[in-house]
Amino acid sequence: MKHTPYYNLLDAIKEKGCLVCSLIRKSTHKFMDDFLYESVNDPGLRKEIRESYGFCNRHVWQLQKFGDGFGISIVYEDLAQLINKKLGKTDDLPAVIKDLNKTRKLKNNCMFCRQEKDVENRYVSVFIENLIDSELKYHYKNSFGFCIPHLLTTINKFKNRKAIEEIIAIESEKISGLIAELNEFQRKHDYRFSKEGFGKEGDSWIRAIEKLEGKGGMF
Ligand SMILES: [Zn+2]
Ligand SMILES: [Zn+2]
Repeated sequence: MKHTPYYNLLDAIKEKGCLVCSLIRKSTHKFMDDFLYESVNDPGLRKEIRESYGFCNRHVWQLQKFGDGFGISIVYEDLAQLINKKLGKTDDLPAVIKDLNKTRKLKNNCMFCRQEKDVENRYVSVFIENLIDSELKYHYKNSFGFCIPHLLTTINKFKNRKAIEEIIAIESEKISGLIAELNEFQRKHDYRFSKEGFGKEGDSWIRAIEKLEGKGGMF
């Protein structure tokens, strides 16, 4: 009996690009949406946000794109009060500066960063547990596979050396295919062949970025 995470994983494998990036992107979108529409006033989450002095830059601008001015105004009024209280303690300036410097570090592991790490770990585990499944393996072999950062998460989590070797062989073959497409793409830039027009290698340069670095705004 397979559970929902397995089917989410299978769906992500069938999509374009890195399967883990896709799952993270989808879950962050949902988490942000739920947060803005239901949980802006949730005391537990508000405490969490206060403890990290807001969010990391990447995530807060992602959140801003939802356009929920009211929700954001509530959260940021709270944070602005918090910062102003700190700035007001001028009788001990070195302590204030030390304190504020600490906030930069805390922000870089914001509520959404932590949630993304959970999602990453959860789905990589589901992948590892189900790799023996022939349906999963079939779709994985025919997919984009993992971006390199998420391939590393996966092989670091695997205990089985044989399975690691298998994953690396599959990914290495995918990268070789990509290199061949990049070569074909470059060849067609030569004026003698430019009339041939581009085939599926036309966007290989974008897929190469995703393969080596992951989806945009992910890290
Ligand atoms: Zn990825
Ligand atoms: Zn973050």
